[in-house]
Amino acid sequence: MNTVFDLKKLEALEIDSAFINALPGDPVTENYTRQVSKACYSHVTPDSFPNASLIAYSREMAEELGLDPDDCEKPLFTQVFSGTELLDSMRPYSCCYGGHQFGNWAGQLGDGRAINLGELRAPDGNAWTLQLKGAGPTPYSRSADGLAVLRSSVREFLCSEAMHHLGIPTTRALSLIGTGESVVRDMFYDGHPKKEPGAVVCRVAPSFIRFGSFEIFAARKELDVQKKLADYTISRNFRHLLKPGKSAPDKTVYLAWFREVCQLSATMIIHWMRVGFVHGVMNTDNMSVLGLTIDYGPYGWLENYDPEWTPNTTDAEGRRYRFGNQPMIALWNLVQFANAIYPLVEEAEPLEEILEEYKTAYEKGWLDMMRSKLGFTDSNADDEALVLDLIKTFNLAETDMTLFFRHLADIPASIDSATALKTISPAFYNPELSDKARDGFSLWLARYSERLQQEKSQDEARKIAMNQVNPLYVLRNYLAQLAIDKSEQGDHSAINELLEVLRTPYDYQEGKDHLAEKRPEWARTKAGCSMLSCSS
Ligand code: AMP
Ligand code: MG
Repeated sequence: MNTVFDLKKLEALEIDSAFINALPGDPVTENYTRQVSKACYSHVTPDSFPNASLIAYSREMAEELGLDPDDCEKPLFTQVFSGTELLDSMRPYSCCYGGHQFGNWAGQLGDGRAINLGELRAPDGNAWTLQLKGAGPTPYSRSADGLAVLRSSVREFLCSEAMHHLGIPTTRALSLIGTGESVVRDMFYDGHPKKEPGAVVCRVAPSFIRFGSFEIFAARKELDVQKKLADYTISRNFRHLLKPGKSAPDKTVYLAWFREVCQLSATMIIHWMRVGFVHGVMNTDNMSVLGLTIDYGPYGWLENYDPEWTPNTTDAEGRRYRFGNQPMIALWNLVQFANAIYPLVEEAEPLEEILEEYKTAYEKGWLDMMRSKLGFTDSNADDEALVLDLIKTFNLAETDMTLFFRHLADIPASIDSATALKTISPAFYNPELSDKARDGFSLWLARYSERLQQEKSQDEARKIAMNQVNPLYVLRNYLAQLAIDKSEQGDHSAINELLEVLRTPYDYQEGKDHLAEKRPEWARTKAGCSMLSCSS
């Protein structure tokens, strides 16, 4: 915990420019769309938004950075974190990266609407990159405007912090600021463009480097730049991998780094599968080398458990990024990353072995995670079958994932399956179960109860443990949309209510039952609730 003496005044913040000091940059300083070669970044000045206003900020993130919370409410905070005013030490820049989008190499992408303000050293010694999203165009904006609308900014701001409080590796969000200006978007790309309020989120992470940051240099054969970026990343974010007394990584260090990126990615995906998070656009430019959830676009949360579901209408046909496909896609992305860094290693075999390890680590980690969701403290040879059969059983009746696991925790080990079925029934979208569904769930619950009886844990202890891995409050798609609808009318109270409740997502909170309910029927087909596009 910080003491008051640790807090820094905003105007006195010292922003470090380690990234641009260490790495090759674009010599062109004018801001126009272009291909940028042999450079990791371009200098960019954010737009100015004289009518910007603060909508919300994250108290924990401010504290972590050592910012005085009082300062967050002052005009200077809004000016700085909308890009309108720069502190003396800030030398803003946007990064060059490429990526595979929906399975195809897309060439140069880059920070088209993200501008880094630099790095800030927090009181605990950790360095954080501060990045504005939606503060104007950059050389990487291609044909777009560099701006962001309020709806997507609310979603990014709330979900970043919600994921953090769920214990899931993620980029963070410090602030959400309305620009006071409008942005034109055709939400469903169907010829209905509309003016929407604009916003800027200040995102925060130890690094925003992505798989695509390395792919671009491999594709262009700019291997000296790629090596510099890899060495910088290892020295800043994977320092423990460097051999004592050696600052330059060798082949074994690059391999150890790749292994760790694979492990971090597996851990992140297992967390997503635990809470029912669907990223929606797992392109390689949206995969962090730190294994952080990054780029909150058309993401969504499973309501009824459905591995086939994707919130992203742009992906509705192929469903490449559906919930159940995320582990596979992470592997596909890791293969692209391995291809990109191959020149650092020059041997395919060890990279392939590490990719194999990802598969086994993921499978084991996923099963252990599912065991914990079911409240098992030890493992049993039949657990995998029990878990897979549960997933099949979910096909028999629309079952709210979040509520199912919360109610399951209320089932004592010695219970008859009829009573158990009654206990979990609030999770069903249609309380009138078909005979097949009733039989299927009863059968599964009977097996579950039998399995619980082999457990050493007591009912109460098991319930506590289960409620620590099965959240009660998640950022349900329709809840985010309701908060957005209000915010677009100038009332930001629902954003702040969600921010508050999602701080402790595993604990029951008095008076907040309305934030832990199943998706209402009207939300099934409403834009923003079950269907989202990449337009943001
Ligand atoms: P995404 O899939 O949303 O992560 O974005 C893919 C690419 O498009 C990245 O290079 C983004 O920076 C860029 N991009 C998305 N929206 C905009 C925008 N409004 N203005 C400029 N670039 C954008
Ligand atoms: Mg992106």
